[in-house]
Amino acid sequence: MGISLINIVYLVASVCFILGLKGLVSPRTAPRGNMIGAFGMLLAVVATLLDQHIVTFQLIIIGLVVGGAIGTYLALTVEMTAMPQMVAAFNGFGGGASALVAATALLAPGGLTNVPPTQLYVATAASGIIGAATFTGSMVAWAKLQGVLHWQPKSDVLQKTINATLFLAALALGALVVINPTGHWAYWLLVAVASVLGVTLTVPIGGADMPVVIALLNSYSGLAACATGFVLGNNVLIIAGSLVGASGLILTSIMCKAMNRSLAHVLFGTLGPTAETASADEVYGGKVKSASAEEAAMIFETARLVIIVPGYGMAVAQAQHSVRDLANLLHERGAEVQYAIHPVAGRMPGHMNVLLAEADVPYDQLFALEDINDSFPEADIALVIGANDVVNPSAREDTTSPIYGMPILDVDKAQTVMIIKRSLSPGFAGIPNPLFAAPNALMLYGDGKEMVRELTAALREQ
Ligand code: NDP
Repeated sequence: MGISLINIVYLVASVCFILGLKGLVSPRTAPRGNMIGAFGMLLAVVATLLDQHIVTFQLIIIGLVVGGAIGTYLALTVEMTAMPQMVAAFNGFGGGASALVAATALLAPGGLTNVPPTQLYVATAASGIIGAATFTGSMVAWAKLQGVLHWQPKSDVLQKTINATLFLAALALGALVVINPTGHWAYWLLVAVASVLGVTLTVPIGGADMPVVIALLNSYSGLAACATGFVLGNNVLIIAGSLVGASGLILTSIMCKAMNRSLAHVLFGTLGPTAETASADEVYGGKVKSASAEEAAMIFETARLVIIVPGYGMAVAQAQHSVRDLANLLHERGAEVQYAIHPVAGRMPGHMNVLLAEADVPYDQLFALEDINDSFPEADIALVIGANDVVNPSAREDTTSPIYGMPILDVDKAQTVMIIKRSLSPGFAGIPNPLFAAPNALMLYGDGKEMVRELTAALREQ
């Protein structure tokens, strides 16, 4: 294929990516957006395969078979609740792949392509730093989301000093790669330093701030791909990488706004429970009331406005269909039902919207935090299903709380608030929730799906 034809195909593919992204702005147009984006990627891959002769087709086919088999297995077996970890891993592998491709371009005698040397070396260094840090940072994020890593460093100052030193060292090594590209050790040392930096940057972030990190790592993976596009002189990779980088940054800024934090605070602030955080005994001691499904159903009988607040526990229990059935029943009995969606509820952006859309809950019943918070004082019942951090009043009232300042859904202002969860265990931020001990709160202990079904059955019997 001639270079002009290749570039025309790349242009069409890029337009598809942009239209695909535009489609993703609404749940209604998202499936079409996905298809358009995927079609653009198919065009880009086919054009690249026909254009590039760096790697033999045998190798490409082996890669396709091995990667395709692993990907298919993972896609078929991964639990819906483990999707955020999978996304974190994808980001990491994207970053790692970019760093390795850049390394290949540096190590190949005469380079892989005929891009100008300065562009090649600067882009290689950038790809190595961003790609390696993205890989290890994403692995740490994966481990935190998977619940296998809980450790957080104690000394904030030491942490910042280490990060700053590693960052400067990575930049210095990047300059060395540009000045002396034949000294390959500098590149591998740069990758090693950036890998450690990825870990030390991500390890201290925890509590409720993980969504920001996931969005930021997503953006980094795009920037790494973009840098690799410059290494290879591949226009479509530059465009696709920039789109991922930019959209990741926009998402990061949306998430920061949702958490009422600055990016600097997320990256360099102290997070997680501290010595000042009240213990569960102090918060709950003798003050928590619980009720059975039958008792709760009696309170529902006279309710006119019910606001349902879903959280991560609804995803774990896969309760969305049962929740919709309960809402339909309440509706039939004359109550108005609304859903309050917190921007960081669950474990990935839009998690609750996806689950409720899957259960065919009408979009017009879903309300964002800022649109529904004023309605809670008028609600007869706020029904919290597996949500915890996003309804924790400490964020509003306790200046020592690690989540202080994060906007929350004001469920405690409803006449009665019922919370369905299995125990008094904390949510992702790892801190107790005074809501459970509020005078108007009732705990409905049980698995999300089971309890909602019991509640629906009890309500039907009345
Ligand atoms: P939380 O993680 O705060 O709480 C979830 C609650 O669900 C737990 O307290 C748990 O209590 C309960 N639960 C778990 N399994 C079940 C079940 N089978 N049935 C009923 N309840 C269950 O969730 P929220 O949605 O309120 O908050 C999300 C948190 O995750 C925030 O801190 C956010 O920052 C963070 N986060 C969000 C991301 C995003 O992009 N949305 C990404 C990464 C982190 P129990 O064990 O007692 O049942």
